[in-house]
Order: sequence, then structure tokens, then C-alpha cells
Amino acid sequence: MTAALVSTPSEAGCAETDVLRERGQREVFCGLTGIVWLHRKIQDAFFLIVGSRTCAHLMQSAAGVMIFAEPRFATAIIEERDLAGMADANEELDRVAAQVLARRPDIKTLFLVGSCPSEVIKLDLSRAAARLNQQHESVRVLNYSGSGIETTFTEGEDTCLESLVPELPQAPETETSLLVVGALADVVEDQFIRLFDQLGVGPVRFLPARRSEELPAVGPGTRYLLAQPFLGRTGAALEDRGAKRISAPFPLGAKGTEAWLKAAADVWGVDQDRFETVIAAPRARAQRAMERYKDTLSGKQIFFFPDSQLEIPLARVLHEELGMQLTEVGTPYLHRGHLDCELPRLPASARLSEGQHVDKQLDRCRQARPDLTVCGLGLANPLEAEGLSTKWAIELVFTPIQGFEQAGDLAELFARPLMRRDILRVG
Ligand code: SF4
Repeated sequence: MTAALVSTPSEAGCAETDVLRERGQREVFCGLTGIVWLHRKIQDAFFLIVGSRTCAHLMQSAAGVMIFAEPRFATAIIEERDLAGMADANEELDRVAAQVLARRPDIKTLFLVGSCPSEVIKLDLSRAAARLNQQHESVRVLNYSGSGIETTFTEGEDTCLESLVPELPQAPETETSLLVVGALADVVEDQFIRLFDQLGVGPVRFLPARRSEELPAVGPGTRYLLAQPFLGRTGAALEDRGAKRISAPFPLGAKGTEAWLKAAADVWGVDQDRFETVIAAPRARAQRAMERYKDTLSGKQIFFFPDSQLEIPLARVLHEELGMQLTEVGTPYLHRGHLDCELPRLPASARLSEGQHVDKQLDRCRQARPDLTVCGLGLANPLEAEGLSTKWAIELVFTPIQGFEQAGDLAELFARPLMRRDILRVG
């Protein structure tokens, strides 16, 4: 358990300040949680968790708010086996997979999702996937890890998308295309498709695709634009296939969305007049929608515990467009490359922290007594009991917040706990 102050190498704004790096006990969900939004996004995929009863319980409670007639995830429970029982474990996995696929002929991709119990670690899931691919020809079987040892909750999306990259068809050498990377709500994706179309940017494809047969082609002419800040491995895998990242802030808030679209528009040589004509109306709607929450948020102090890796782009929106003061911005991992357009936009006064030592961070939070604390479910109740207003980080991942039309909802998510607190005080 160590903490060290490390200088960041970037040039401007917050990029010049020190980052507090902490290693210690973490309070964050594991990568299995990503299945909750990924199974909604990839409509013909099934996620078979190879795990323990704990994993099954986590998925039930994380997805508990939703009622499914035919859920597209399940847990094959592999536990309490010694090495001699591993052959049985493989047989059992094959049996459960066959059962799922027989019952659900609509499934085109089966993800075997690894977890942390030692029995599961001993199983070679990539070999299991290869074996199942031979047994079930009409289905693509892939594997990735959602284990709490290797992933925090948004990293489950990263490992899932990384497993898809080798499956993407090869794009023709001469084709220049845009690939938007990171799961977005369908409604947000549709808005971006319309905007790119009006700008004349394209062809535009998305990873993950909604359906298995729509897997986007990738090649040296592919320029990719990240829609989510937690996709380090997926980005690296795409670059191995020749794709090049378009450097941009993330599409959060009016300014972030504008800059994100502009980065792609510049690559496609869209002139400024056309760009302005296309974005003027939706940008004005976004600004108006955010303006409604400015009085509530402006000047208020916010403290982020590390959770979703969305913290830095969110802090940028809250500071730049809503006037909030950033006490501490914690993130599980700081990917300086992918955050190259975000870090310089944070004020130098904000304390950045990477990793977590939860007790030390709780002490800093208690000392700062911020107006709003963004944290995981486990920390929210104790902090509320101490009189601090909190926001659950997981809500920010489950709610569509990207793009112009969602900018007001994004501001409201942060304003609501403060408004509730004011009502309680008046009452
Ligand atoms: Fe727990 Fe690990 Fe299963 Fe996640 S993958 S629920 S951390 S046992």
C-alpha cells in the first residue's frame, strides 16, 4: 500500500500538475458489470459468465432493476473443484453452452466471460471458445475477462471489445472510414449518425455493432474516434490492425460534443461554414438545457472517487460549462494518450488521483466536505449518513449522457442530489 506523487509529462493546464498515485484497497465493481449494458447493445449476443455464485449474485443485483423474459446472460457455476475435476468443468461448460444455444437459436455471438475464482482461472477459456466454435458452426464464440482481479467495471467493456477486434473484417486498402468506438445508447448513436451524415463525414461505423453481421470493417484507412474513455486495450488492438485514433475530447456536454465532432470533421476536410450550419441548432439546444442547472451547480465543490474512468471528462464538463469547482478527480487509470485533449482543460487547482487507497481518500473527502461526492454504491450510504450529498457513479454509465441532446440530462444528474438536499433543508 503505497502512495506517490508523480509528475505528468503533458504540457498545459492540469496536465502540468502532479498526480497522486495510490495503491491499496479499492471499492469498485468488477468487469462483469459491463454485461448489463453490453447485452442491451449487442442484440444477438449471449454472455455466459464462467464463475461462482458470487458472480451470479452480482449480475442479478446489478441487473435487478430490469425484468427480462429471456435474459441474454447467465452464469455457469464452476466452483469447489480440485485440479482432477477440471476435465468435468470443461464438459460442464460445453453442456451449458450447448443448452443455451439450443434454447436460443437467435444467438449469433456467445461470449465466455472469465471471472476470479481459482477454479475458473485454471480453465483455459480461449481453448474452450475454440472448441465450442468447432461444435457450433453458426455461432461465433469468443472469450474475455470480467474478473475483479483484472478489471474494474467499465474495463469489462474494454476487454469485450478487444476480443471482437480480431473478428472485424478487413477494410479495402483504399477506403477511408470513421469508426466510433465504445457502446452508446442506440438513441445517441442515431443522433451521431445524422450529424455525421449532414457533415458529409463517412462512411461511419460503430464498435460494438448492434448485430453480429454488422461487424465494422477495419484497416489502414480507418480513423477511429473514441466515444468512451476506458478503451485502452481496444484502441491498441485497433491500431495493430492499422486504424489511427483521431485525438479529441469525449462527447460530453455542448463543448465536448462540438470538439469531438469537429475533430472528425477536420480529418474529412469539412469547412467551418458547413460545420457551423450543421451544429448551431443542436449546440444551442444543449447550451439552453445545461443553463437550467447552472445556478444549482456553479461554485459548488465536487469530489470524484475513482470508479468508471469517466471522471476526467465529466469533471471537465462540470468545471468548464457549469462552473463547478473540482476538489479531487479520482480515476482508476489515467490513460494520458486518450485523455490528451481533456487534461489541459482541467484547472491546475484540481487534485488528480489515480488508483485508490480508499481509507486515505475517505479522509481527504471528509476533510474537504465537498457539496457533492461521486462514488460507488458501497461508499454512498456511509457518506450520506455523514451528511455528504452523493451521486452513484454507476448511474453515469447506465444513463445516455453523450451528445448534444443529452447534455441537459447530464447536468441534471449532478444537480438533482443538490436540489434534493436543498429541499430537505428547507423542509
Ligand atoms: Fe466477484 Fe470476481 Fe465474480 Fe466479480 S468476477 S463477482 S469480483 S468473484
